[in-house]
Amino acid sequence: MTLRYYLITGHLIAILITLIGVFIGLNYMVIEQKQVFFIMAIVITASLLGALFSLLLLSKITTSLSLLIAKMDALSRRDFQTDISITSPQEFAHLDLAFSRMAQSLEESFASLTESEREKALMIAQLSHDIKTPITSIQSEVEGILDGIIPPEDTPRYLKAIHGQTGRLNHLVKELDFLTSEVYGSDKENEVLETIYLDKLIIDVLSEFHLQITDEERDIAISVLPESAYIMSHYHKLYRILQNLVSNAFKYSPAKTPISIDLIKAKEKLTITVTDKGIGIGPEHQSKIFNRLYRVESSRNMATGGHGLGLYIAQELAQQLGGFISVDSQKAKGSKFSLSIPLKQEPKNQTD
Ligand code: ATP
Ligand code: MG
Repeated sequence: MTLRYYLITGHLIAILITLIGVFIGLNYMVIEQKQVFFIMAIVITASLLGALFSLLLLSKITTSLSLLIAKMDALSRRDFQTDISITSPQEFAHLDLAFSRMAQSLEESFASLTESEREKALMIAQLSHDIKTPITSIQSEVEGILDGIIPPEDTPRYLKAIHGQTGRLNHLVKELDFLTSEVYGSDKENEVLETIYLDKLIIDVLSEFHLQITDEERDIAISVLPESAYIMSHYHKLYRILQNLVSNAFKYSPAKTPISIDLIKAKEKLTITVTDKGIGIGPEHQSKIFNRLYRVESSRNMATGGHGLGLYIAQELAQQLGGFISVDSQKAKGSKFSLSIPLKQEPKNQTD
């Protein structure tokens, strides 16, 4: 039974009880039969009019309820109606407002869920592409060697290519491994600060690029200010950030062009800048290069192109150190990546 029928039945019962009461009362009075009917007629008319008016007023409630039910139905079909359509009664208007707010926050949650699902699917698609491409080519090259399609004199060249591809796969696996263990599994409270000499840090990082510096005849300019400065921080995080920035400077600038690395320790912050004179990054890409798996289109097909994880990892680590990495770049002119981190804890015997 609907609310409307409950209300009508309630009113009819109330009218009936009033009529019985009035009828019994009138029987005790010394009045004529005609007057009894007249009084009864007035009571009936008044009761019916009263019921009619109260039903008219109550219709506002039933309409509001129907509107709320329609909104809930729409919500179950993921149609988030956030407009406020009920103005009275006040309690229902409040309910409508609360409902609209709930629909709005549900809509936002759904949108972000969909976005993260989309991002996850994209990441899996890109990673499987990055893994599948070298594996397919390794497979065909190995088959070529085994079947004798590749002549023995060309075998060393193909083996070198296979070596390069396994190296890239290894690099990807290492980055993914690092991503899960460091970026997502960082346990800040248990990390101990170490004394890091800035000149040693940069020499350690550059030792990885030793061969490349010679092969590519690079001029690497390093400056540490103040000289022999040291800080209290997390060595392997700083190392990893710098290693990513320096590796990019090498990858995205041609051989023989210079790279400079400047480390400046001020009172409360450390700034490390890596500058190259390479391909540069257009303004439309500069905010996106820190996103997971983002690569600028022009660098995708480069032989040295990576997986778009390096800057994401570096930025995450910079944030774990309380800082950030910024970029200043001009297409075809070069790039300058700067890491800034706050320095809070100074060793007691610091003299610089
Ligand atoms: P990897 O995961 O191996 O580091 P990657 O170098 O492609 O791969 P990121 O280091 O995250 O990934 O860099 C993202 C993108 O930003 C690069 O693909 C490149 O297009 C652009 N980029 C980064 N550093 C530079 C630079 N110094 N000069 C020009 N472009 C750069
Ligand atoms: Mg990189």
